[in-house]
Parts: sequence; structure tokens; C-alpha cells
Amino acid sequence: MSIENTAPETVPAGAPADATGLADATEAAVRPRPGELQMAAPRRPKPPRHLADLTAGERREAVAALGEKPFRAKQLSVHYFDRLVADPAQMSDLPAASRDRLVGDLLPSLLSPVRVLECDGGATVKTVWKLFDGALVESVLMRYPQRATVCVSSQAGCGMNCPFCATGQAGLTRNMSTAEIVEQVVSAARGLAHGAPAGTADGVPDAGAFPGATTAATLGLGDESDESGEGDDEDGGTPAERALRRARVSNVVFMGMGEPLANYRAVVGAVRRLTDPRPDGLGMSARGVTVSTVGLVPAIERLAGEGLPVTLALSLHAPDDELRDELVPINTRFSVAAALDAAYGYFRATGRRVSIEYALIRDVNDHAWRADRLGTLLNQRGRGWVHVNPIPLNPTPGSRWTASDPRVQDEFVARLRAHGVPTTVRDTRGREIDGACGQLAATAG
Ligand code: SF4
Repeated sequence: MSIENTAPETVPAGAPADATGLADATEAAVRPRPGELQMAAPRRPKPPRHLADLTAGERREAVAALGEKPFRAKQLSVHYFDRLVADPAQMSDLPAASRDRLVGDLLPSLLSPVRVLECDGGATVKTVWKLFDGALVESVLMRYPQRATVCVSSQAGCGMNCPFCATGQAGLTRNMSTAEIVEQVVSAARGLAHGAPAGTADGVPDAGAFPGATTAATLGLGDESDESGEGDDEDGGTPAERALRRARVSNVVFMGMGEPLANYRAVVGAVRRLTDPRPDGLGMSARGVTVSTVGLVPAIERLAGEGLPVTLALSLHAPDDELRDELVPINTRFSVAAALDAAYGYFRATGRRVSIEYALIRDVNDHAWRADRLGTLLNQRGRGWVHVNPIPLNPTPGSRWTASDPRVQDEFVARLRAHGVPTTVRDTRGREIDGACGQLAATAG
């Protein structure tokens, strides 16, 4: 089957400079030919070093190298991860003579907002960020009554070239650093902690005047990641405690731009920063973190040995190699069977139930026999280890593909459930927001 490329979205990673007024750092991204994979990120200047790139020990060394007492590292960590302070003027425990040097060296600005889009009555917000070199990435903030989720990007662009995804069509610009990934979450957490009370939605600031935190706080975050209900006890505690939980980021999903496991070291570093106890990190539960992949088998196996019980989400989209070779070109390297074996191995190693993501595309992959085949393949490996999330495709402008007919979708779900496979159609939050990544658009909306 021949699959045509989709049109790029409004502000893709490869957008020309005059589309945004930014310096064009994305010229290095080369549009791939259909099916072509870009496994190695182009060599690009590195982002400035940041506190969040470093372990606690490395922070002490970095501070000492600046001629400061090592305990200043902990003070900086408290400001960044615990108090979520961005303004150096509020870091009054740092001597004025040292503050500028410490903040300038270890807390450089990494993300600048260039567009903020909202939908779902303000409960879902997508922010397009400019990185230090002009590359553009995005994050999505979603708030639900009890939880708040940030969907983060891990690469500027993507080299996996899924033909239904606008990001994939623009190619890979570069890997993001650990701190650039973490900062997307900290920005949202900062807003929830210091901004308008969670639950209010009184508008979005102009993009140019965006305090990312304020937007996150004002508009709130949501969650669609842990349908298993295995996260925190969302319903327990007093009303005040529940309100507190709403005012923090409870979940992070690596489902924005990029293939997370193609930027392995930075992504694992970011997961560690998110889950390190405060003030070394944000103190999140690893159970609230989901890392998606198109199926980089060696990296899945490596992740299983990290001792990080995050949820793995395998973007399968087809149960047969013939179709998946086209929908998810990495399948030409790692087959459906190999990807599912690795996913099952991940479950065996971590005890964490794996999510199978399946974008339902009308008349392409939504056939009942494909649901049957998927159910059979999953059950061949075991029971109770996996959950399937069919996702109505969020078509990009100009794409000839669209979401499945609702009756076809219902039949697909019913077939999987008939095989005893837990199946939940994903929330379609943010559907009217232009999605830069087919995967992100599908999961964030
Ligand atoms: S769907 Fe995800 S993995 Fe595939 S090209 Fe898009 S960003 Fe990359």
C-alpha cells in the first residue's frame, strides 16, 4: 500500500524563520524521503548547561568550580525543584555577590514561549517553545478534576518518519537536553504552585507575555495517561489534600515531539530528575511517568534494566509487518513480534503494565481482523500484562487520512475486549489544537 505524506502543521519544527520571526535553527533538519529513517541526531551546538542536567554530586562540583561553597548547590536545587522559583531576586538566601554567578551559570533560560493555544474550555493548553538555538518544540498541559499531566517533547523534530505525523515529515533537528525536557515540566509545576488556583480558567496570556507557569496554573493540566488507575490514590484524603494534589503535576507523558528512546540518555536523565526526591528533583512517582516508543527494541531492553518503573507505551498502530512497515518505518528494523516481545519483557522486568497505542485510521488499520490479530498476538505472550489504547486519528491539515468511523472504532474495541484485552479509547482532548506530532495530537487530543 502506498502512503502519501501529510502536510506539515502550522508551526512545525522545520518551519521557516519568517513563520515565527525566529532565528532559523531548524535548517539542519532534512525532510526525509518516505520510509527513510534518521537514527542519529545531527550535530548541533549544545544547549547551555543547567542544574537539571546534573546529579546532586555534579551540582556540588559545578558550584565548587565557580568558587562557591558546595552547599550552595542544594540551595539552588531547593529554589528550582522545591520552591519552583524562577526569579533570582527571590533567592534571598544566596549572597548577592554570588547569586548572579550561580544563577547565570546553573539556571540559564532554556525555553521561551512563542505560541500558546488552548481548548477544552481552557483545560488543555499547548505551548510552542523556542529553544536557545531557535528550534521549536511543544508541550501540552492538561488538567482533569483530580490530576494534572504534562506531555513533553524529547527531540526537536523526529527521525522516525511516521507518514501520518507532521513532525516526522519535517525530519530531526536535534536531541533535546535533559534540562530542556525537565524545564517543560517545571514551568507547568511552577504555575500550578504559584499561579491562579487550580480549577479556575480565566484566560490565556498573550504568547509574547507568557509566563508559562501562569498559563499552566490558570488553565490547568490534565491527565490521560494512567487509565489503569495505578497512580496515586486520587480520591483519598481530605478536600484540602485533594486540592493540593490538583495543584501539582501528577503525570508526565513523553508523547510530544520526538522518539524518546532515540534520545535515550537525556530522557532517562529527565525521568531521574522528575522522580528524584526533592530537592534533588521534582519528587514525582515513577508510576506517574509514561515513556512512549515506536519500538526501539534495544532501548526498551535497556530501559527495563534502569530500575525506573515508568509505564512503557508502545506505539504499534498495526499488528502485521506489511502495514506497520509503512505506518511506522522503524518496523523494517524491529518487527511487530520483536517489539511486542520487548514490551512483554519490559512488563516482566518492571511489573508495569504496558500500553499499546493504536491510532485508528479509517480504512487503513481499523479492520476487525486486525483487532483479532492484535488480541491474539498479545494473548500469545500472556494475560494481564498489557492495555490497548485505540486513538481516533487527529488528522493534520492536508492529510488524506482521517479517523475511523465510530461504528468501526466500536467494533475494533469490542473485538479486542472479546479477546480479554483491556481496551480504552483515549480521551480526545485538544482535538481542535493543531498538533505538531501525530502521536501528540492523538494523545493530547
Ligand atoms: S508519531 Fe512520534 S515517533 Fe512517529 S514521526 Fe511523529 S513524533 Fe516521531
